[in-house]
Amino acid sequence: PGEAMHAEVLVLGAGPGGYTAAFRAADLGKKVVLVERWPQLGGVCLNVGCIPSKALLHAAKVIDETHAMAAHGISFTAPQIDIDKLRGWKEGVVKRLTGGLGGLAKQRKVTVVTGTGRFVSPRQIEVEHEGKTQVIGFDQAIIAAGSEPITMPFIPHDDPRVIDSTGALELDGIPKRLLVIGGGIIGLEMATVYHALGAKVTIVELMDQIIPGADKDIVTPLAKRIGKQYEAIHLKAKVTNVEGTPDGLKVSFEGGSAPPTDVFDKILVSVGRRPNGKLIAADKAGVVVDERGFIPVDKQMRTNVPHIFAIGDVVGQPMLAHKAVHEGKVAAETASGQNSFFDAKVIPSVAYTDPEVAWVGLTENEAKAKGIKVGKGVFPWAASGRSLSLGRDEGLTKVLFDEATDRIVGCGIVGPSAGDLIAEAALAIEMGADAADIGLTIHPHPTLSETVGMAAEAFEGTITDLY
Ligand code: FAD
Repeated sequence: PGEAMHAEVLVLGAGPGGYTAAFRAADLGKKVVLVERWPQLGGVCLNVGCIPSKALLHAAKVIDETHAMAAHGISFTAPQIDIDKLRGWKEGVVKRLTGGLGGLAKQRKVTVVTGTGRFVSPRQIEVEHEGKTQVIGFDQAIIAAGSEPITMPFIPHDDPRVIDSTGALELDGIPKRLLVIGGGIIGLEMATVYHALGAKVTIVELMDQIIPGADKDIVTPLAKRIGKQYEAIHLKAKVTNVEGTPDGLKVSFEGGSAPPTDVFDKILVSVGRRPNGKLIAADKAGVVVDERGFIPVDKQMRTNVPHIFAIGDVVGQPMLAHKAVHEGKVAAETASGQNSFFDAKVIPSVAYTDPEVAWVGLTENEAKAKGIKVGKGVFPWAASGRSLSLGRDEGLTKVLFDEATDRIVGCGIVGPSAGDLIAEAALAIEMGADAADIGLTIHPHPTLSETVGMAAEAFEGTITDLY
């Protein structure tokens, strides 16, 4: 078909992976077209993911702190929650960032085309918007189509009382009783928000612990705290049926600690995300998509078709924005003739719950499964002066070292700000630091960052009882 325009590099999807790739390719001199079906840039992360959730989690934290301070001599009256204003603030944060991206695209002369793109040949994509279509030709393409929430056949997803993470972030009222299906990061973050805003929260999780990807000792302080706050947490249990009734959503459960049938006002389904690889007619370009919808790529983010790349959630786990961003750079640089590779040793994961749970590199479970002998240094935050002065003592920093070399291979942290603290461990792993490198690095006192140094000293046997 005739082409409405032609791109040297066409990027499909404007999430963290896509906009990063588009900007990098433009900076390297390429004529870039960025195709996005949503009216604003930023993808899931900025619009309905990382950023709005973190804004609401901040609000939740402030509310929780006012409760906590009552025990230390400062009482507040109960918070007055103006949900429209809170939603407006969250939307303002999102708008500022997505608007900023629009400006950055303009500055770099990246052409943004609004519409849904599907391949029609190995060198052309058709973009549909409000019933009109246009064909855009390209020399090279980068697929950054992201992912969407998984739905389940026995759940009436069209009932407005059944929501996914996007619905939860819309903050369309606070239910009296909320059931969260899936005790992973997204479900637990939303549970944190709705609990702080006054909902009674129940969590049901198929595995034997919440946040199944992290080591149990790192998750336990969070499990204990929310175990007291929430109505119930059911592990090794699953939902088998949901029925919409005039009185609420009637839910049946099955498994180990499954409760009897119960009725909830709202249900948040957060059982994972599936890649959008099947929605872009990749076959018309000859690009292989696996049966789950992921697009296989090599270390330069190339698909099986050498001039077509793929990045972000659509290429595999972990589905995280910082992974998408780094992959986006590699794809753009490779498409621009540079010799770039994605060779990150580790990608950190963070649950922005309270306390936060963060881990990077090998977990103890993974080390065991791989037969790698690791030693650990553990520092309990009950011995951290900074943690106690925050009114918190349940945190833990655990650093794992290769027994043979003393090099750091993994780290798990639970406690307030664990997500910020894990960055030091990620850098240490990338740089091949050993226990002495970390233990002999002078960390500022009194900070939570000292717990990383102390854990290394605990492994070395050089720790003193310094608060
Ligand atoms: P996406 O952000 O999914 O963007 C894909 C874009 O492509 C979308 O804008 C979509 O509209 C567009 N698109 C898809 N198909 C087409 C098409 N055919 N035509 C045109 N456009 C198309 N990650 C973190 O690292 N930290 C967090 O704190 C975090 N919190 C999260 C909280 C929630 C509630 C959710 C849901 C996710 C969170 N994530 C977080 C995950 C993060 O949002 C994703 O990993 C990240 O957005 C992936 O980026 P991406 O570029 O691969 O795709």
